[in-house]
Amino acid sequence: MTIPYGRQDITQDDIDAVSEVLASDFLTQGPLVPRFEQAIADVCKAHDAIAVTNATSALHLACLALDIGPGDLVWTVPNTFVASANCARYCGADIDFVDIDPTTGNLCPDALRQKLTSANHLPKVLIPVHFGGASCDMQTIADLVKPYGIRIIEDASHAIGARYQGEPVGNCLHSDICVFSFHPVKIITTGEGGMLTTNDVSLAERLRLLRSHGITRDTQQFSTPNDEPWYYEQQTLGFNCRMTDIQAALGLSQLKRLQAFITTRKIRVSRYQSLLAGIENVKPLTVEPASDSAWHLFVIQVPATSRRVIFEHLRAAGIGVNVHYIPVHTQPYYRQLGFKTGDFPQSEAYYAGAITLPLHPNLSDEQQLYIVEQLIVALEQYAE
Ligand SMILES: *Cc1c(COP(=O)(O)O)cnc(C)c1O
Repeated sequence: MTIPYGRQDITQDDIDAVSEVLASDFLTQGPLVPRFEQAIADVCKAHDAIAVTNATSALHLACLALDIGPGDLVWTVPNTFVASANCARYCGADIDFVDIDPTTGNLCPDALRQKLTSANHLPKVLIPVHFGGASCDMQTIADLVKPYGIRIIEDASHAIGARYQGEPVGNCLHSDICVFSFHPVKIITTGEGGMLTTNDVSLAERLRLLRSHGITRDTQQFSTPNDEPWYYEQQTLGFNCRMTDIQAALGLSQLKRLQAFITTRKIRVSRYQSLLAGIENVKPLTVEPASDSAWHLFVIQVPATSRRVIFEHLRAAGIGVNVHYIPVHTQPYYRQLGFKTGDFPQSEAYYAGAITLPLHPNLSDEQQLYIVEQLIVALEQYAE
């Protein structure tokens, strides 16, 4: 049996919440999506929350709402899931990357400062990614880009429940829009699902339109007055990115355990940290002092020369280790756009030694001990 690197935690309450929707009048566009949105807005201390099908569509709609199109440029980091970069490409925009701090896995403010002063083409939007659930240094990042009028979309797919400077990630104090994912390996799940938060009322309105075909039924918003009871207006070219009430019910039920999930993850992380303390050739990533991580991922660095054999040993021992992330700019699709190995050396060096150990709410004491024992065996066998 394999110990997965991440796994959802589903209780009877979650199942009951979903079953209730199935027996109700609305499977979609019922009362639960707005209720879930309000609950997320409350947790994040954001003015608005907009639920969508997944974080990938959330990122896409966020770019569209910020008027990203052909000829525009978006920056993100190489150490992320491809979706953080793909969203710009969906809009026909160009993408470029800012290198990371290899000790945290997050966007490096110094690299950003340098790129802002040396680049001959500046981005319209920057997408920092809160890697592993730990917020980037958003204050510094926002201060750096503000003079250039660059907008910020936070990719907080890993970070629901995390805090930065004591305040919840998603409050958009240092960004225009924040995006969350509710994929089953993330902190809470709706099966597939995503959410955008913002404090900008006009952006929220725009996102709601884009989520549902560009259509509004709000008579106040009509471009020409019309009181026919069946009338609706398509005002822009939108999509169907709506979340269902089935998913929102699961999300609401899961959200009740958000703090418990994070507490459990933190207990597992401190246990990893103490079990691994003093072991030569293993360095867990660090988290910046202002950041209180949601701990989506627990990543260690091992010597690059033995990463592969250590990884294979752990997999063979039934441990579902993983690697986050293959630098996006080295993917064939992005190479085709002109990027190459060597472009972002910190992300590449970080990647070469990275292994993600299993971390989820139902990881047991015994499993965790076994994982570390096997890691030590592998290190003794292979690390030079
Ligand atoms: C999971 C993830 C996404 C995409 O989320 P989906 O909900 O699966 O579309 C985007 N960015 C990052 C950093 C992610 O980890």
